[in-house]
Amino acid sequence: MFIGHFGAGFAGKKFERSASLGTYFMAAQWIDLIWPVLLLLGIEKAEIKPGVTTVTPLDFTYYPFSHSLFGVIVWAVLFGMTYFIIKKKSRAAIILALLVISHWVLDLLVHIPDLPIFPGYSLKVGFGLWNSFAATVIFEGLIFTLGIYFYYKSTKPKNKTGIYSLIGLIVFLVAMYISNLVGPPPPSIEMIGIVGNAQWLIVLWGYWIDKNRE
Ligand SMILES: [Zn+2]
Repeated sequence: MFIGHFGAGFAGKKFERSASLGTYFMAAQWIDLIWPVLLLLGIEKAEIKPGVTTVTPLDFTYYPFSHSLFGVIVWAVLFGMTYFIIKKKSRAAIILALLVISHWVLDLLVHIPDLPIFPGYSLKVGFGLWNSFAATVIFEGLIFTLGIYFYYKSTKPKNKTGIYSLIGLIVFLVAMYISNLVGPPPPSIEMIGIVGNAQWLIVLWGYWIDKNRE
């Protein structure tokens, strides 16, 4: 799942406006922001296996620290607590923690059973929406669209940048999504790790949009 997580981040603003869109993106995508680092360090593992699912050629063979249910709960608590310590806003901290968990729940729907429940424990889950191209695109597109709708309703631009920075990001994310869906499999795991780290730019983009909307 890719744009669906950003849809969840956009939706965060509907529930609490005090945190920045960039922070909501960071929370909703948190475990996919640390995963590329763990992948490059060799702590977590994945393989490129075209055909493993209809939608993604990636086989997530070992990622208990970023993507187990237990792991994501720990990350959510740490994320929410860190935000609370810095900003002293409890409602936003709770929403951010829930957004960190939302990532795992959304992944649960699309991944084949590769999501661990607990590190070191062999049970893995996933409902496998990725086995259907159409179902994946409809479901993820719906979450993304709903998230943008909520965000759009909850904020308004302060200036022209507030309009174009948002439109630009939407176009960029959709283009990235389509190129992931129809493009060739990534050349190597290292490349996935490097491109994955570039997602921080989307987080920064979120902060930029937020500065120009109210
Ligand atoms: Zn993920």
